[in-house]
Amino acid sequence: MAFYITTAIAYVNGQPHLGHAYEFIATDVLARHMRQRGEDVFFLTGTDEHGEPIADTAKAEGIEPQELADRNAARFLALMPKLEVSNDFFIRTTDEQHELAVQQFLQKVYDNGYVYQDLYEGWYCPRCADFKVENEILEGNRCPIHEIPLTRESEENYFFKLSAFQEQLEQLFDGQSDFVMPARAFNEARAFIGEGLRDVSLSRGKLTWGVKVPWDPSHVFYVWFDALLNYYTALAYARPGEDLTDRYWPANFHVIGKDILKFHTIFWPAMLMAAGVEPPQHVFVHGFLLASDGRKMSKSLGNVLDPIEAIDQFGVEALRFYLMREVAFGADGGVGIDGLKARYETELANDYGNLASRVSAMINRYLGGKLAAGRGDPELRAEFDGLDDEVAWLMDRFELTTALELIWQRVRRLNRYVEEKAPWQLAKDPAAAGELEIVLRSLYEGLRIVTILLHPYLPTTTDKLLAAMAPGDASYALARWQDGAGVMEQITPLFPKP
Ligand SMILES: [Zn+2]
Repeated sequence: MAFYITTAIAYVNGQPHLGHAYEFIATDVLARHMRQRGEDVFFLTGTDEHGEPIADTAKAEGIEPQELADRNAARFLALMPKLEVSNDFFIRTTDEQHELAVQQFLQKVYDNGYVYQDLYEGWYCPRCADFKVENEILEGNRCPIHEIPLTRESEENYFFKLSAFQEQLEQLFDGQSDFVMPARAFNEARAFIGEGLRDVSLSRGKLTWGVKVPWDPSHVFYVWFDALLNYYTALAYARPGEDLTDRYWPANFHVIGKDILKFHTIFWPAMLMAAGVEPPQHVFVHGFLLASDGRKMSKSLGNVLDPIEAIDQFGVEALRFYLMREVAFGADGGVGIDGLKARYETELANDYGNLASRVSAMINRYLGGKLAAGRGDPELRAEFDGLDDEVAWLMDRFELTTALELIWQRVRRLNRYVEEKAPWQLAKDPAAAGELEIVLRSLYEGLRIVTILLHPYLPTTTDKLLAAMAPGDASYALARWQDGAGVMEQITPLFPKP
């Protein structure tokens, strides 16, 4: 089945930081898991490059906005392989094909009667590129997200008739309680609709850095609509000569941060409805990563976890694992380099890395690296029965942290099994040769299963380990206990001391 998943596209007015890395990694984990299950996955990410903040920054630097966009987009593009992100395409909203498709799409919205011209006056945040409604403005007319002073702006704009979709949006939400996930985010979006939707500005007249409005080229589209459309436009040109829209739309998951909830859960489905296009199936809203003391990360407080430094020190797989393990996906939580180091040592190096080394060493020392066919220890086997289905069920709900915990319980179980059975004792007793074989075969099976299930989180490490095993395939169908013969080569430590 087609499975289309997207991250929010990164705004190129700055450098990549941990928040971006978190969203890219989490989305990648689910994309890889779905590929293991044999789904026809398309994973999109990219950069959002228009709007006033880009124009302002470029002006301050004395360069063209395109130059700024090119420079920063290159940084995001280069980050993907560093994070082991397996995106199928990287869209830039300055792609010519995207710009043309935005014009065609919004022309349709216009032709369908959902656009009108009016004077707009209100409090505007240049960083959000958004007008703020009275009840969300902070004291002193400041942005509730950026806390910077808002400017009073008034201009002749084109408006999108969001209010015309009040009922349709209510029906969408009331008919599908997992349209927005998790429930807290759903409730927030539903409450916003409940307050009554007001029309929103669709264009800017004073700005030139954007996609030109086809029916009035003195305006450019408000950057949000141009940006949201990336999820739809990319499919038409991601593969040269092929239009993937029918194959992958509607998207299964848009993955976003909670600061852009309103745009993705309300404006976006309404825009699609206005053009006669089906809304996405789910929007998943992840939380924010805070410093380990629970405060906001900031350079001045010196509590920032820099993803590149973390990768240089512990490797990308440790960062991926730590972020998915430390903070329940969907909630806010604190992270820091000390916590990463602790999990690297206790969980990756000791729990998992040591287990793999010991199992491989014992299979080689006692059995010459070869395991005969057999059913293994029925007690241990029972603890792995159905694990693949449980993990898949959780992953379908984007429960990346709960699924990882379930897998880790089995990693720990296998370590206890080693201690309980003490294969090195059995090896001393020729009469226990049969039992030794059963114990090692069971450890091999358990290790193989957890390794397949860990593959989306630790793609390179698990590939390395599976390459030393036969069958050494990471496909999901093999994430259950097998009875056939097996092979395991001697391995080098998976997580050496950094
Ligand atoms: Zn703002």
